[in-house]
Amino acid sequence: MWLAAVWLSGSGFSMRWEDGGFVAAAFVIGAIVGSFLNVVAYRVPAGRSVVSGRSACPACGQPVRARDNIPVLGWLLLRGRCRDCGMAIPATYAVVEAGCGLALAALATAEAIAWQATGSSIPLIDRAFVLGDYRWLLGWAAGGAATLTIVAWGLLARAGHVVTRRTALLATALVAALLAVAGWFWPLWGG
Ligand SMILES: [Zn+2]
Repeated sequence: MWLAAVWLSGSGFSMRWEDGGFVAAAFVIGAIVGSFLNVVAYRVPAGRSVVSGRSACPACGQPVRARDNIPVLGWLLLRGRCRDCGMAIPATYAVVEAGCGLALAALATAEAIAWQATGSSIPLIDRAFVLGDYRWLLGWAAGGAATLTIVAWGLLARAGHVVTRRTALLATALVAALLAVAGWFWPLWGG
């Protein structure tokens, strides 16, 4: 998918503004999920819940304010320091958020390129919500979910979390299934 995106970008692809809007939305969705994955990687190895309890600074214990919790932007506006005590917040958090955002945006771009290459002149959003053809949306969501699962896995491994064999098998099967779905709906493979 990624290689196809690079190759096709040199073959006369032009981004429609509607598709550009979806690519931007995909970045935001990816950054928000990346923010959640940061929480998962921080809390799961410590045996804490990922849904309950607000994030707090590990140094001073002050809860993170909502406006400082905005993915990527929050870290940039705080210049990577806790608002209360000034402790450095690792850039890794912002990099993970930006990386997840870019991954979903790239997958959305790849869908736009691939569908345009089939001769379609319909924006992706219209294809789904006017024509009722959700294949690209399913493919994008499946590819994105597989990518984010791999990112989550990497973050947990980095945090030193030991994954049980059962979870490892389930995650591998999930990623394989999601990639199969994404590939099944990839328009350029169907001719
Ligand atoms: Zn602090």
